[in-house]
Amino acid sequence: MSFDSVVTKCPKCGAEIEFQSKALNCDFETYNLECVPVEIANDINGEEQICKNCDSKVIINCLHIVRSVPMYIRIAVKFDQEEK
Ligand SMILES: [Zn+2]
Repeated sequence: MSFDSVVTKCPKCGAEIEFQSKALNCDFETYNLECVPVEIANDINGEEQICKNCDSKVIINCLHIVRSVPMYIRIAVKFDQEEK
């Protein structure tokens, strides 16, 4: 069984807490709270874990819900024109 994980610390005791997700490539990548890929963040949003050290129940939530991203358009230039 393979998965990616978001690893963080229990807010109460500081012990490591891991949330696992199969939303992406599942090649055992580890992320911290500051840089979770959107697919994984949406997958584990609202999940609960019990701290193995102090038995606190912790919940992970997205700070922002991202369902869309801004894009932009420009005039396409061919490579041979660009290099001159
Ligand atoms: Zn704890």
